[in-house]
Amino acid sequence: MAELAAAKPLMPLEQALAQLLALADGTPITEHETLSLAHAHGRVLAEDLIAGLDLPPWPNSAMDGYALRCADWTGTPLPVSQRIFAGQAPAPLQPGTCARIFTGAPLPAGADCVEMQENAEVLDDQRVRFVEPLAVDQNVRPQGQETRVGELVLAAGTVLSAIELGLAASLGRAQLRVVRRPRVAVLSTGDELIEPGLPLGPGQIYNSNRQLLISWLTRLGCEAVDAGILPDDLDRTRARLSELHGVDLILSTGGVSVGEADFLGIALREEGELALWKLAIKPGKPLTCGHFRGVPVIGLPGNPASTLVTFALLARPYLLRRLGVQEVTPLQFSVPAGFDWPRAGNRREYLRGRLENGRAVIYANQSSGVLRSAAWAQGLVEVREERTLQAGEPVLFIPLSEVLG
Ligand code: AMP
Ligand code: MG
Repeated sequence: MAELAAAKPLMPLEQALAQLLALADGTPITEHETLSLAHAHGRVLAEDLIAGLDLPPWPNSAMDGYALRCADWTGTPLPVSQRIFAGQAPAPLQPGTCARIFTGAPLPAGADCVEMQENAEVLDDQRVRFVEPLAVDQNVRPQGQETRVGELVLAAGTVLSAIELGLAASLGRAQLRVVRRPRVAVLSTGDELIEPGLPLGPGQIYNSNRQLLISWLTRLGCEAVDAGILPDDLDRTRARLSELHGVDLILSTGGVSVGEADFLGIALREEGELALWKLAIKPGKPLTCGHFRGVPVIGLPGNPASTLVTFALLARPYLLRRLGVQEVTPLQFSVPAGFDWPRAGNRREYLRGRLENGRAVIYANQSSGVLRSAAWAQGLVEVREERTLQAGEPVLFIPLSEVLG
């Protein structure tokens, strides 16, 4: 039996991700809510944001200076016929004059250029002489330069960060329709676990995954439901799972290493569906995917660095896709390795590393139980399976802020 279990082939990360995304596509979160911009940060847009106006709504000055009709400048100094500040509605420009104008102020009808004040000389009689050649449209921000009315500015499925919210505000939107938060139950399994703040008994460790997952899920726009610590006991596992029927996902950690204490797996097999994957990644080999009485369940491995990697590379894209986000591949880039990797492995490594002088260096202790490696790190450094590396050769770097922020 042991040999049979060991012989189960490793599943490439791409295959696991594709299966999870297909499951997510089949169970999208379809309820929406309307939120003020102040409450929409991190949420997913449920409507296409269409521009309701031109941006800018009228041509305006990009400079502090003078607005005029280019053709009026023949070398003879021009009188100043009006002063236009931002927020004012100017009168049409009197022919043969210029207007004092400030950045963001509307261009008066009849003007077609702005000269910056540094290139203008105010004479004793208050007329203005221009010292550089002028060109039509110079220093003018034309109407609709950023956006035309009716244009699609942000598509449904966009994650709203400060920039998207600022853009919506610039178009006059005070509220946006967003996808409701998925409710995700965070379940920590293991007899050895105890919550921080309590005295540590023999054989016990503090539960760190609960805090990790609640923080990441909240940042991701989910409502994290703390389902507590689950002891390694089949009846208690069944009972706890059946209490969680209202959630969109049960995200558990631990108990997936095909050990004798895999009660989560037994419960899923009995009253739902269970797939136990052995992923070709390190850390984070064992992953459970299934459902309990129809509630989707993803079981992440219990070692904190494994929890991090599998949450970042699998659970997070799955949840984003359920929210309707199409592009779930994190930003990643190639950098020269700042380390040697002399022994090829059969699993793809996601080393906790950081950039030093443009090279990826890795934390000395890459054990999956060591969370300090990730506190030190800025990103995951990907070393492909079956390959060795010499310093200077390229590796992929995935910033942690991309996958956990
Ligand atoms: P398991 O998959 O249950 O065998 O757990 C693998 C390793 O991760 C064991 O060393 C566990 O003690 C540890 N572990 C499991 N859950 C947690 C947790 N919530 N916080 C910290 N360590 C954990
Ligand atoms: Mg356990």
